[in-house]
Formats: sequence, structure tokens, C-alpha cells
Amino acid sequence: MRGLFYFIGICILSLTACQNNPSPLKGKSKAKPHLTIVCFNGYEITEAKKLGRELTAYYGIVVDSIKQDKLPAFTFYKPRSRYLADSILKYLKGYTLKSNYVLGLCHVDIGHQRGKIKDYGIFGLGYEPGLCAVASDCRIKKSKQVRNYATAFLCMNNVVRHELGHNFGLPHCTNKKCLLSAADGSISNIIMGYKTLCQKCHDTIY
Ligand SMILES: [Zn+2]
Ligand SMILES: [Zn+2]
Repeated sequence: MRGLFYFIGICILSLTACQNNPSPLKGKSKAKPHLTIVCFNGYEITEAKKLGRELTAYYGIVVDSIKQDKLPAFTFYKPRSRYLADSILKYLKGYTLKSNYVLGLCHVDIGHQRGKIKDYGIFGLGYEPGLCAVASDCRIKKSKQVRNYATAFLCMNNVVRHELGHNFGLPHCTNKKCLLSAADGSISNIIMGYKTLCQKCHDTIY
């Protein structure tokens, strides 16, 4: 009987451990996670490939395919001529097969519900944890602080690695230098150079 209680106890413990560690990067023997990148409304495949290589270098995620698609009408928020990131994530769910992650890229402005504001402008959004993320370079390209392509790419690179971090289960980090610190719609947080995970965030997902 005592053995049975031990067994149930271990089952509950391991279930809790699974829920606390949704990261696919945990455990050395695990297969690497795979990613599909979706280029919306003419987002350049060459750019998607470049960002994909950065994601592979940083997280070891394998980019399976790069697809082109059009943002569906239900993701558009007419009052502000902006797309709703939450709706885009719902749409991207259709791309997830088995354990595949999916990242949507676009040039159009995106927003999401924050408190009473329905379309708070953002750089990107990702489920935490989950399989879908979206990033837009609209606000990056509009910023006066971003004067050249290299800086724009650096910012977008920080955004997509940040959103994938959410997908792997990481919440926002209070360390401002950390890749997972909240951008809060401000370019100053993502323009400060190539960002990496702080030790605490790193140890959470690896
Ligand atoms: Zn975030
Ligand atoms: Zn951190």
C-alpha cells in the first residue's frame, strides 16, 4: 500500500515538473524543436531565411520550411488600420503540426489587447508557452533611431528571439539587459545591441 502512495506521489511530482518546464530545449537527449516561418503579405523570404539562421544559431531550433501567406481579414482592426497580433496567433495555430513551432513575420503594424486598450502597438507577440509567435518590423522601420539596415535587422533579431523565448515558457524578465525584458513598445529596449538571455532565464529553459 505504501508503495502505491509512493508511486502516486512520484507521478504527481513528475506531472508538476512537466508543467513547470515546457521548454523543448530541456534534456540533452531530446530531439531539437522544429520551426515553420510564415512570411505575411510579401515579407521577404531572404529576410526570413536570415532570421531563421539566427534562431538556429541561438536556440538550435531547426527551420523546416518558409511559407508565404496573406493575413486573413479577421485579423484586421479597421478603427486603427492595424492588425491584431492575438488574432494572427490564432490563425497561425493552423500551421502547427505535431510539435512544430510557427513564426509569422510581417511589415504591417500589429497591436494587441492590453487592459482597456484593444490595439496597443507592439513589435511582436508569442504564446507563453505555446507554439506560435508573430513579429513585425513596422515600428522598427518607422523609428528615427533606426538609421540603417543593420540596426533594423538587429532589432528584429532581438524581437523574434524574444518571442520564441516566450514560446519556450519564459515570462518577462526584470533584468533590462536580458533578451526577455519587456520592450513595452519602446525601441530603446531592443536597439541596445544583440541581446541574450540572463543566466536565470537561460537556466530555466535549458
Ligand atoms: Zn515579451
Ligand atoms: Zn532574464
